[in-house]
Amino acid sequence: MEIKITCPVCYSTKQCLEEKQESFSSFLCFKCGYMSDSRYKIGSVNMIENIKKSPKIVQDTIHEDNTRDIVWMLSVINMGQMGMIYPEGSKDAYVWKYAKVVDIPPEDRDKYDGHVQRLDVENAKSFHKFDFLSACDELGMTKRVFN
Ligand SMILES: [Zn+2]
Repeated sequence: MEIKITCPVCYSTKQCLEEKQESFSSFLCFKCGYMSDSRYKIGSVNMIENIKKSPKIVQDTIHEDNTRDIVWMLSVINMGQMGMIYPEGSKDAYVWKYAKVVDIPPEDRDKYDGHVQRLDVENAKSFHKFDFLSACDELGMTKRVFN
């Protein structure tokens, strides 16, 4: 079940959702793009390991939610064939990027380890840090949520 909550990061009251599962909740704010999970406990070993594996921009922008005792972080959404949304930049100046998946012409495949498709990061679209929703629209994943 999805309910709207007040985002602890950007304070949006309309675009931050909690999705309640049986034993945990997941959180995603469509304004600032921060996400979390009730299992992302502050200081837990799993959480620390998870953060270490994240891109630097994600590590640098961690938000501790002391009300829920969980860590929120910027989303990295890999939708396979549909493309990918990720933050890019520095802690104080980052944007959201949406990159599509493109085919690699047969003659170029050697340059890409034999892959037939790649993420077109050179032509990725940029969105303001508080316009995560538009990046999701571009990916086609928001229709269900806000209509
Ligand atoms: Zn937010």
